[in-house]
Amino acid sequence: MEKLAKYDVLVVGTGVSGLFLALHMPRTSHVLMITKAELDESDSFLAQGGICVLKNDADYAAYFEDTLRAGHYENRRDSVRIMIRSSQHIIRELAECGVDFTRKNGELQFTREGAHSAPRILYHEDCTGKEITRCLLECVQKLPNVTILTHTTLVDLLCDGNGCKGAVLQMKDGTVEPVYVPDVVLACGGVGGVYEHSTNYPHLTGDGVALAIRHGVKLENVDYVQIHPTTLYSKKPGRSFLISESVRGEGAVLLDKNGERFTNELLPRDLLTQAILKQMEKDGTQHVWLNMQTVRCPDIEKRFPNICERCQEEGIDIHRDWVPVVPAQHYFMGGIHVNLSSKTTMEHLYAVGETACNGVHGANRLASNSLLESLVFAERAAHDIRLHSQTQPDETENLFHLSDYENLSQYYADNIAAVQTEIRRQKQRRKQA
Ligand SMILES: Cc1cc2nc3c(=O)[nH]c(=O)nc-3n(C[C@H](O)[C@H](O)[C@H](O)COP(=O)(O)OP(=O)(O)OC[C@H]3O[C@@H](n4cnc5c(N)ncnc54)[C@H](O)[C@@H]3O)c2cc1C
Repeated sequence: MEKLAKYDVLVVGTGVSGLFLALHMPRTSHVLMITKAELDESDSFLAQGGICVLKNDADYAAYFEDTLRAGHYENRRDSVRIMIRSSQHIIRELAECGVDFTRKNGELQFTREGAHSAPRILYHEDCTGKEITRCLLECVQKLPNVTILTHTTLVDLLCDGNGCKGAVLQMKDGTVEPVYVPDVVLACGGVGGVYEHSTNYPHLTGDGVALAIRHGVKLENVDYVQIHPTTLYSKKPGRSFLISESVRGEGAVLLDKNGERFTNELLPRDLLTQAILKQMEKDGTQHVWLNMQTVRCPDIEKRFPNICERCQEEGIDIHRDWVPVVPAQHYFMGGIHVNLSSKTTMEHLYAVGETACNGVHGANRLASNSLLESLVFAERAAHDIRLHSQTQPDETENLFHLSDYENLSQYYADNIAAVQTEIRRQKQRRKQA
């Protein structure tokens, strides 16, 4: 078994949070990044609507209040404050990386989504995540201090009483290897893969959360799972296709089986989901309808090219037909509990992005806050790691035993079951409280 070279930090995941963290590590620090799949197979590539930014100081109070109201006031206020106050420099950095936000006459364009009291979302057509992640990836791939391994899976954490010492990886060729590093960062996305219907990639099975359960790392609000109100109703198998909130923000309306409007389309996601499910039950239908003919922007194909194309593939002409839509699992507000520097309760173990819970989203995420939150708290994790960087752990401790990982498929199945059970258990506990 070939041994992995020496690294200073292991980053599990190549979505926006992992990539931004790698970009913020000093060039003298050797960073190993791994991803379970191909580089373009992360939820970050799927984000459609956009990324929030504080437009100006006058909007601060409203943005703060919108985030809290959507989160049912269960948000950690310090986290929200940091996210909003950091947003402008994050957007500047993205622009420096080459991200091309939509502009008109040179001026940045802002859109609006559900539960926002004002337009404050920057976007790139209807594929903002792809634009941002593609640019970050290009920047990271140029860094000589960063190594990226695809089709390499985090299997376990190596830890003793003093914290995390490294990880166990399943390599592309199927072999299992330990990697001893001073710091490990879990940037492994959400939990959509443990649900039957989800907008997420199916390989995102909450692996970080499963390992947190296994090693007694503190979790927070793992039952707070966001269901997106409008995904395309399709008989085709696979990932549910999202019809972005900004389509409703631009004027599309929801209709019941009789073609009547039945709700306010810009309610926060959890409330809108409830309204749709209630209407489906009342009508005895599998979906409701979205009428995109009321969208106000003049060139809908240019504004929402991917959504229009996907509808066309399903035989839906958005200028003539209504689009069938249904709620599906979408986002994980809870996760591994972290502090404001993205540190977990285990020494030398960090969590960022959707895997982490820093309390920004409270009980429900405000639309387009997650890309921003991922970037802000990834940068903070990098800063903390830089401050506390230490020497290599001693490999002679031999925390790794190959025999523990003999039946990996059973091990992975157990992890998925553990995440599902924990979500159900927490839900039940909250109901009883
Ligand atoms: C359809 C869709 C639309 C969205 N639209 C928006 C939007 O408009 N605005 C917004 O702010 N947010 C949006 N979101 C949410 C946002 O995209 C995600 O929250 C964010 O991109 C998460 O980034 P991340 O870095 O945490 O994880 P991800 O981008 O999901 O990346 C996770 C990475 O971890 C890797 N990984 C997982 N487990 C392992 C393992 N065991 N070993 C190795 N690697 C592993 C994966 O392969 C992947 O590389 C949307 C999400 C979806 C699904």
